[in-house]
Amino acid sequence: MIRQNVTVLGATGSIGVNTLDVIRRHPERFAVFALCANSQVQRLFEQIREFAPRHAVVRDAPLADELARRCRDAGLPTTVHHGVGALSEMAAHPEVDTVMAAIVGAAGLEPTLAAARAGKKVLLANKEVLVMAGELFMRAVREHGALLLPVDSEHNAIFQSLPTDISRGISACGVRRILLTASGGPFRTLARADLDEVTPEAACAHPNWVMGRKISVDSATMMNKGLEVIEAHWLFDCPPGQIQVVVHPQSVIHSLVDYVDGSVIAQLGNPDMRTPIAYALAYPERIDAGVPSLDLLALARLDFEAPDPDRFPCLPLAYAALRAGGTAPAILNAANEVAVASFLDRRLPFPGIPRLIEATLAALPAGAEGSLDDVLAADAEARRIAAGLVMEAGAR
Ligand code: NAD
Ligand code: MG
Repeated sequence: MIRQNVTVLGATGSIGVNTLDVIRRHPERFAVFALCANSQVQRLFEQIREFAPRHAVVRDAPLADELARRCRDAGLPTTVHHGVGALSEMAAHPEVDTVMAAIVGAAGLEPTLAAARAGKKVLLANKEVLVMAGELFMRAVREHGALLLPVDSEHNAIFQSLPTDISRGISACGVRRILLTASGGPFRTLARADLDEVTPEAACAHPNWVMGRKISVDSATMMNKGLEVIEAHWLFDCPPGQIQVVVHPQSVIHSLVDYVDGSVIAQLGNPDMRTPIAYALAYPERIDAGVPSLDLLALARLDFEAPDPDRFPCLPLAYAALRAGGTAPAILNAANEVAVASFLDRRLPFPGIPRLIEATLAALPAGAEGSLDDVLAADAEARRIAAGLVMEAGAR
């Protein structure tokens, strides 16, 4: 068996750690080529010690110097780089077969695009890439013959429930709707008035999944599902009207495809990201992910409800940005990143998150999503406006 050379972007995060756990179980299939992270040098060093990658990347020169010294002292052969350019180099390196895109937020756009442009097998967890630049990114995938495999559990479930070849379009394949399931997050049953008081700690305590802080807050506001609607639109070329969100608190059905003949095909499993990660890593084969079998009898029941747009306005905001098109989703994403960071810093109350996003979208008209520069300019301008609005709110 030829081993796949893998670059992990975001190695120290929740998805990165789960990816390395799957890789650890299959040393005959995968070799780690590069491990990339932001600033968690200690965790990255431990990963380097275990997986002995050829390269590692951190944010800046002082961190790179520190990590390089530790690698040298430990006799490790890893070359340490820093900065955005190095992330893209590791994603596009000729010796790399597979790139796990697991950086959080807009920071992942350029390296993930570099992987697509280099025709790699791209395992996409970093959904913000498709939200910001869906058209551009999907074009790069097509033009450069990249293989794009969704890691987000819902999209991985849809991918598994669709026919293998959807190049004729999903309607021609008999798909009526895509049903995206949502856990509803930790505040699913909280009264609207109580949302004013929720803390970052409560927002990050997700009932079913252990994840990074940003996506945990996104799950609590349901912006995560909004971003996933946009992600599904681009991945499966599906109009917004054919994507429906269903709240399913147990997070066992990871998503469903509704066909014209009345069949509904779903993927189920324990809520453990190693399942979609292993599926994407070994595609089209299946490998052990370390995940136990689903115990239906212990589960006993599965519940479903409609999302509440009044308590969770981020979801309708995302649909509206998708329908508006152009740079509107990039503006939505940037404003959301600023809002979430401000909430985590206790500079914005929880209900301030959708308010800030709505105000930013109102203040900045969307343009065409032409080039990467257009997207990055919209992203920067939206961040500037959103940060200003947070300051104003704080001053009041
Ligand atoms: P996390 O916060 O746990 O990890 C983020 C990783 O990105 C870390 O390794 C960090 O070092 C790296 N990083 C952050 N900023 C960086 C920068 N500027 N340059 C280089 N590296 C940087 O996040 P996570 O929960 O693992 O999520 C990662 C992505 O996967 C997100 O886009 C998230 O929406 C998506 N996702 C996560 C889950 C999950 O279960 N955690 C599920 C589905 C999708
Ligand atoms: Mg998801």
